[in-house]
Amino acid sequence: MRILVSNDDGIYSPGILALAEAAADFGDVRVVAPHVEQSSMGHAITSTRPLSYHRTVIKDFEAFRVNGTPADCIALGAYQWDKVDLVLSGINLGTNLGNSIWHSGTLAAAKQAALLGIRGIALSTSIDDGEPDFSKLRPYVDKVLKMLIERPKSMLLNVNLPREPTDIRWTRQSVRQYDGKVVPGTDPKGNELFWFTVTPLKESEEGTDRCAFEKGWVSITPLRLDLTDEEDLGRVQEERSSA
Ligand code: MN
Repeated sequence: MRILVSNDDGIYSPGILALAEAAADFGDVRVVAPHVEQSSMGHAITSTRPLSYHRTVIKDFEAFRVNGTPADCIALGAYQWDKVDLVLSGINLGTNLGNSIWHSGTLAAAKQAALLGIRGIALSTSIDDGEPDFSKLRPYVDKVLKMLIERPKSMLLNVNLPREPTDIRWTRQSVRQYDGKVVPGTDPKGNELFWFTVTPLKESEEGTDRCAFEKGWVSITPLRLDLTDEEDLGRVQEERSSA
């Protein structure tokens, strides 16, 4: 099995090495990832300038750095390596729960895979208590990868790992309330500037990714590319047929 490993934290992140090492138990691994951090870049692609694809050293792995976004890395990685079976993205330094899914570059790499007809799995972990100890996470990363690789039905999956997981749950995305916030400030010259930041929501809904994570469980959310609001579309069609 050919496994393409990417991320949005940049190719020299400890998270991508941890993921490549875990992936190596399941197939041939190639790392293709952004040269510099691309967190919160979402599903951006680079279309106004060319992309480069340079070999680099990530332990014993065949690895290439790209001067682009996570989505670029998957498009280019799949172009350079025939018949990729699986794309793994992460392990992100920071969770991608709830609304973060919309902004995440980690997720975008997995989504780009799904757009190309390749399975995509995004993995993220908490950095609330400093840099994660990936050796401690490894048993759960192995367990989750084994479980998901043996069940090849889902095309797109979002996995979040707490610092010390105790169990695994299948969840849905939490979307009850947006947690993005603009915080104003000033630069050293007194000019106004703004930080767009995220404040964690206090309460989470039962059955969601956020809720599972808070309980110390690994959260696995199956996602789809079709964003159509079926309920609203149904209502519109009903209104039109009865008009
Ligand atoms: Mn990131």
